[in-house]
Amino acid sequence: MGEITVKLPDGSERTLPRGASVYDLAASIGAGLAKAAIAGRVDGDLVDLATVLPDGSKVEIITEKSPEALEIIRHSTSHLMAQAVKALFPEAKVTIGPAIETGFYYDFDVDHPFTPEDLEKIENKMQELAKANLKIERQVLTGADAIRLFGDLGENYKVELIEDLGAATVSLYRQGDFVDLCRGPHLPSTSHIKAFKLTSIAGAYWRGDEKRKMLQRVYGTAFADKKELDAYLARIEEAKRRDHRKLGKELDLFSFSDEVGAGLVIWHPKGAMLRTIIEDFERREHLKRDYDIVVGPQILKTDLWQRSGHYDNYRENMYFTEVDEQSFGIKPMNCLSHMMIYKSRLRSYRDLPLRLFELGTVHRHERAGVLHGLLRVRCFTQDDAHILCTPEQLDAEIKGVISFVQDVMGVFGFEFEMELSTRPEKSIGSDEDWDRATNALLGALKDSGRPFEINEGDGAFYGPKIDIKLRDSLDRRWQCATIQCDFTLPERFDLTYIDADGEKKRPVMVHRVILGSIERFIGVLIEHFAGSFPVWLSPVQVVVLTVTDNQLSFAQQVYAELRAAGLRVQQDFRNEKLGFKIREAQLQKIPYMLVIGDKEVEAGMVTPRFRDGKNLDSMKCSEFIEFIEKEVKGFH
Ligand SMILES: [Zn+2]
Ligand SMILES: [Zn+2]
Repeated sequence: MGEITVKLPDGSERTLPRGASVYDLAASIGAGLAKAAIAGRVDGDLVDLATVLPDGSKVEIITEKSPEALEIIRHSTSHLMAQAVKALFPEAKVTIGPAIETGFYYDFDVDHPFTPEDLEKIENKMQELAKANLKIERQVLTGADAIRLFGDLGENYKVELIEDLGAATVSLYRQGDFVDLCRGPHLPSTSHIKAFKLTSIAGAYWRGDEKRKMLQRVYGTAFADKKELDAYLARIEEAKRRDHRKLGKELDLFSFSDEVGAGLVIWHPKGAMLRTIIEDFERREHLKRDYDIVVGPQILKTDLWQRSGHYDNYRENMYFTEVDEQSFGIKPMNCLSHMMIYKSRLRSYRDLPLRLFELGTVHRHERAGVLHGLLRVRCFTQDDAHILCTPEQLDAEIKGVISFVQDVMGVFGFEFEMELSTRPEKSIGSDEDWDRATNALLGALKDSGRPFEINEGDGAFYGPKIDIKLRDSLDRRWQCATIQCDFTLPERFDLTYIDADGEKKRPVMVHRVILGSIERFIGVLIEHFAGSFPVWLSPVQVVVLTVTDNQLSFAQQVYAELRAAGLRVQQDFRNEKLGFKIREAQLQKIPYMLVIGDKEVEAGMVTPRFRDGKNLDSMKCSEFIEFIEKEVKGFH
């Protein structure tokens, strides 16, 4: 028979009889490992547990705890679902069913769309098949044999896939009477699938082609154990509760309208107030850091977009308009006006750095399918700035931006992560340019004292960049700030400055946003706070409520005093039951209620009540104003 020797991740070697599988290796190490093993990694490739080990290979045992396990579990669960669907709906045709970030899906061709009741039936069948502990076995066939096999089964989608693959051999996976075309790897048997849930049904075109058949896509998720699954499902429920589209309607912040157009936000008074608070905050913070506020036009001649390269590279996402036989492009970015400001006069090294900030509203045509509430829209405002500086100034400028990001994230209470993307294979600019810019970004990242990641070769062709992702209260990551070095625009627009030595030189250019799209950021804020904004951000900070009309005159006095002090206050003097008015204020998530009853009128005091129901002691109206001012201090 002979023997083979394999190497384990810790560098040790093991000798096994020739023909031994990954499973045999696990079993030779220990019974516990053999039980926990679900797959293997042999010379870098993920394989099934039954795979025979080549002599001299490097082997790692994959267990449920390994980072690779989840995808294998999910992919195997998608096969289990297809098996269940075929058992319940034999006329259904299977197509593809991959693992995805949140779980898995499988697309079926069925005559009648699946109902929620069908999902329940499919899920029960899956439980049954999992319990049956069916072996999942790999089989390799020639392409021709596989086409014949799936042809006989009437699975014409699989036949099409194999024909398109054009490979000499293909691998199949069998479990019970179900067979699927698949590269694998898979779990050794169905009993390893222990925690799953089918989550939704959607329509999807075969191969994403709208000219082809509409299929039924069933989404689900799976985890190594029930505890993880339950935690995930609870998080999904919480995310639904916090959905900014739902809260946006309930809190009357914004709306969308088919009559206006998809992806175009209409800001209602409270939403517009929220925006204004954020925009005012941004203006103040930029002025503090020596930026200049500028404003450019909404449309610029198409010729200028041709010169900048946007017309060649970004035209599909732009809107155009023609007036007096002149074509204009509606700006998708704010850079060009800022270039024109730089070029409006001769620049000396003494003028630099120039930091031009604009709350710039841009239009970008996104496909209808990707639009999503405030998170993906077609018209949005960026907190955009362009820094033009000498090469020597770049280090300090990037450090300034990172510390700016740190300050702003601290104010909103977000944790964040940073990533550096470096030079891609295809790029413009000299080695010297790239080295200097990359080192400036890297130096600032190191200087921040925070961990960061490097994405080698992931930068834009025109310069390296830093991406910053904030983490919300549900531990989701959202792109916010970017700091992008750019070697093209200064060239294309021939930007220069006169240096100390009297020579004409090219300035370095940095595009940067801190929050990114204000629309998107507000969407994230709504979900992060579940609509209960901190007092400084709340569009309405206080509501004054009367118990009966007897308190009207004092209540009006309190309302006027708060308003005069600059608080964002609302009144509810309606002839409604107090309980009803309080409940409504709570649903509106207004931080403070001042209920004015006879006691308050007599004492000339107010009794503040938090939105969570807690009360403060009675105080004079002026004391309450001081109390709020103290609470929002530092945010203004
Ligand atoms: Zn598969
Ligand atoms: Zn820009």
